[in-house]
Amino acid sequence: MEEKILTIVKLLRGKKAPPFTIEMDITNKCNLRCRMCWLRNFSYSRDEIDDETWIKTVEEACRMGIKEFRIPGSGEPFMRRELILSIMEILKENGKKGLIISNGTLIDKEIARKMVKIEWDILTLSIDGPSARIHDYIRGVKGSFERVISSIRIINSFKKKYRKKYPYLRMNTVLTNKNIYRLGSMVSLAYKLGFSEILFQPITVFSEEGRKLLPTRASLENGLKEAGKIAQKLGIRTNATELLKKRSIEAKDLPKFWSKISRETREFLKIPCYEPFYNIIITPYGDVGPCAVFGGKSKSNIAHENLRKIWYKDFEKFRRDLKKGKMFDFCKNCCVPIFLENERIRKCLRDEVYGG
Ligand code: SF4
Ligand code: SF4
Repeated sequence: MEEKILTIVKLLRGKKAPPFTIEMDITNKCNLRCRMCWLRNFSYSRDEIDDETWIKTVEEACRMGIKEFRIPGSGEPFMRRELILSIMEILKENGKKGLIISNGTLIDKEIARKMVKIEWDILTLSIDGPSARIHDYIRGVKGSFERVISSIRIINSFKKKYRKKYPYLRMNTVLTNKNIYRLGSMVSLAYKLGFSEILFQPITVFSEEGRKLLPTRASLENGLKEAGKIAQKLGIRTNATELLKKRSIEAKDLPKFWSKISRETREFLKIPCYEPFYNIIITPYGDVGPCAVFGGKSKSNIAHENLRKIWYKDFEKFRRDLKKGKMFDFCKNCCVPIFLENERIRKCLRDEVYGG
């Protein structure tokens, strides 16, 4: 049984298990101005958690036995350069698996060398166009294409110099009407730059400006088909074909699916969401919640509580409610990728716990 599913099963059976993954949103600050970004409508009204508290929490998370540490790009992680460098070091000293998502514009030689030397696991870099014209337009800052390309070249040169396989390099591309006709070129660019994988991400609309970037359904289908073909030819991993299959589900349909799940009779399968059974998320302000959607609406905060207590005590309430089929206010904003991961988990539980 995969380890993540094992964690869920243990907690469902009333045993103790640490979270399998932790997501640490280190900062909401960013040096870019991407047109589709939620930060465009966000103003900083609270102080971010200080370095000392983050380090203490990361050390505690290691001791608890958490396996995977994710540092997503909900702001640009390297805006807190020294803190990220320290966290990366602690995680690798403790044999943990780490992922960073970055816009790639602040990765200098020192960061690149460190990532390669400590064999950081996964680095995802966001590139939204095959040329500076498209990428810089979407990212809102001139010169950002050149900077991310230069970062990737520096990392590759260190990988060669130190003969290291890691970090595994993944390119992330948000699908917009500015790049949808060039997805084949995006795959070729990823290949040429030494990425092992290119992930396409449907745009989430947070503003009118984001809405203006929505591609049409037909262009999306054609673009993804083209990208899938070229990726197969070049031997580079992609989610293009998978996305094509999944495009039929929309966020507005989720309540319909949840209602169907609630009619399930087998205890472990009628739970609408498994996130608080394996995952923990910390916002830049220290608020701790069960998923990327909770929006900081939580009483648990790493500034005045330790992580162990939050997971084993505060999170029990989320897990109890979900076991009863009860969902939360913020679930109305849930998104399709999380729903699909829940469905994958449900299938594993059906097969492995109930034998199909
Ligand atoms: S790089 Fe990421 S966090 Fe920064 S503006 Fe763009 S989408 Fe937002
Ligand atoms: S918002 Fe989605 S992921 Fe979060 S608890 Fe609700 S259903 Fe689960």
